[in-house]
Amino acid sequence: MISYIGIGSNQSQPIEQAKQAITALNQIKNTTLVTCSSLYCSAPMGPQDQPDYINAVAKLETTLSALELLDELQAIEQKQGRVRKDNRWGPRTLDLDIILYAEQTINNERLTIPHYGMQQREFVLYPLFEIAPQLQLPNGTFLTEMLKDCDKNGLTTITS
Ligand code: ATP
Ligand code: MG
Ligand code: MG
Repeated sequence: MISYIGIGSNQSQPIEQAKQAITALNQIKNTTLVTCSSLYCSAPMGPQDQPDYINAVAKLETTLSALELLDELQAIEQKQGRVRKDNRWGPRTLDLDIILYAEQTINNERLTIPHYGMQQREFVLYPLFEIAPQLQLPNGTFLTEMLKDCDKNGLTTITS
């Protein structure tokens, strides 16, 4: 299966956190990192009194189920010091979200796929476009269509 993973960090050297996460994604069992976007810098969502975010999107090839993949992603978040707090969208060392998993639509208590927020999130759609410009959602919507309605909101590419 092909799966796209959204990576985000705004704590404890976010660029290093993102790079470390990309390495860790390639070490998940039964999984290969196919490619990864550039790193991007985005304004925070929700609470504004926190640093900007570093984001990227990675493309994985995996034989894990979506739930098994989520377990692996949450283990990486934990390993990189993610502390789950009550305040939604507060600062974090690492967030790994499953944006897409094959052509599947999944809705259960642990997973909503496609990721419920992808359509409004410039820090997901633009990195995704960089690595998968032809992409279509399970419902047939083209990524290019979603991008037309998604402001860049100051998103920049990081060169290094
Ligand atoms: P958001 O979901 O708005 O991006 P967040 O990523 O900060 O917020 P988390 O605290 O990382 O939210 O995750 C909360 C829960 O979301 C997780 O425990 C997980 O079970 C659930 N979840 C639902 N769909 C997904 C998905 N597609 N990818 C990752 N987690 C998901
Ligand atoms: Mg998230
Ligand atoms: Mg998350």
